[in-house]
Amino acid sequence: MEESARELDTGSEAGGDDALVGNVSKLTVTPPGYTGAPRKGHLIFDACFESGNLGRVDYISEFEFDLFIRPDTCNPRFRVWFNFTVEHVRETQRVIFNMVNFSKTKSLYRDGMAPVVKSTSRPKWQRLPAKNVYYYRCPDHRRNYVMSFAFCFDREDDVYQFAYCYPYTYSRLQHYLSSLEQRNLDYLKREQLGLSVQQRRLDLLTITNPAHLNPEREKRVVFLTARVHPGESPASFICQGVIDFLVSQHPVAQVLRDHVVFKIVPMLNPDGVYLGNYRCSLMGFDLNRHWQDPSPWAHPTLHAVKQLIVQMNQDPKVSLEFYIDVHAHSTMMNGFMYGNVFEEEERVQRQAVFPRLLCHNAPDFSLSSTSFNRDVVKAGTGRRFLGGLLDDTSYCYTLEVSFYSYLAAGSTTPVPYTEDSYMKLGRNVARTFLDYYKLNNLIDDNKLSSHIKSVDSIPPGRQGSNTGNGRNQNGGKSERRFQGVRDY
Ligand SMILES: [Zn+2]
Repeated sequence: MEESARELDTGSEAGGDDALVGNVSKLTVTPPGYTGAPRKGHLIFDACFESGNLGRVDYISEFEFDLFIRPDTCNPRFRVWFNFTVEHVRETQRVIFNMVNFSKTKSLYRDGMAPVVKSTSRPKWQRLPAKNVYYYRCPDHRRNYVMSFAFCFDREDDVYQFAYCYPYTYSRLQHYLSSLEQRNLDYLKREQLGLSVQQRRLDLLTITNPAHLNPEREKRVVFLTARVHPGESPASFICQGVIDFLVSQHPVAQVLRDHVVFKIVPMLNPDGVYLGNYRCSLMGFDLNRHWQDPSPWAHPTLHAVKQLIVQMNQDPKVSLEFYIDVHAHSTMMNGFMYGNVFEEEERVQRQAVFPRLLCHNAPDFSLSSTSFNRDVVKAGTGRRFLGGLLDDTSYCYTLEVSFYSYLAAGSTTPVPYTEDSYMKLGRNVARTFLDYYKLNNLIDDNKLSSHIKSVDSIPPGRQGSNTGNGRNQNGGKSERRFQGVRDY
């Protein structure tokens, strides 16, 4: 999320957890004073894996454990993302886990958000039921906000994994991009735009009709970036939804490739994602505050992306029309956008067109939450910086999506997002470009087949079945459910 001054976390710099520098590694938690060999039910916690995060576990009782989020590397102010496994459980063992050191106070936990869980025998992530989750100010933890959740383990041999939201790791992205490359599509190009501080790939995808790759040809460019904030995993599902749609055989995608060059950087902060940070890079920088003057050694991925955009902006053959940076939001519902403020009313109106069209296409996108601002705290963001750099024919937005849920029009019941419904929002973003260019007469309606005009739904992505509504989330066959999800 783009955070404004009033939303900044109130956690102290150290959060009282000065020693929390690493993740727990196969930590067996036994009662104090216990000296024998660990028994079933003496839980083993682990977060030493990609995007893992858990810094400390305190035994409170046989049934209760205090868990501490490991702060972002080199930046103890940020403690939100968690992702860890628990094993060595006893069947029907009931526990309460207290996440005690969040750096934020406002949270969607107050509105029904719940952590996600999966296990070795049930590998699809599910949200815990909201009734098992409590969010409150705790006198035992210096009045910090604590999120407690109850869970019942039901299979002794399973390894259970809990996370803040559906993880989307660097490796997952690499596998996805490799599988795209193996399809040998002539309209998709994958390049390594640079390397992170820890030498991970900064990938750039170009999706367009290959005729546009001729440097002499005039081209209009849509530029999309995601995961500058590493804990905002929903941004990756949206980004993958955009890519899946644009590389598909859907007639709208074909028309878009014929008219537009899509440049996509799916993971701007690969180190932060790998390390399980929430907001920062390896060196503790919030990269979305450094667009004005990124350093090639301290912020190499941001530096590379900025260089590319500046260079495209100087190319008279290139018209960079959209820059969209995808984030996830920890206190708001729905998808929505932030845009810039301009003096000229006409430009303001033009900037509102894309969000209006997206609202028409995506039931989870909220126009009323969409806003345009010039908050000084956000001056170093991609949206604000590029809004100043690019000319008045370009539009720069932040696309935000809730970590939790959306309210469909006319409904008051929140629908929790799933991996699939995040991807669906991405597909809807992609097809909205057709509406935009049709509206601006850049794509001729007559060129579109009647088939396209009648399309009112988007095919599901390639990732399994479509479970885009909240009911399906826990509604599989009963033997596939978690006992804890059902009973606790
Ligand atoms: Zn963000």
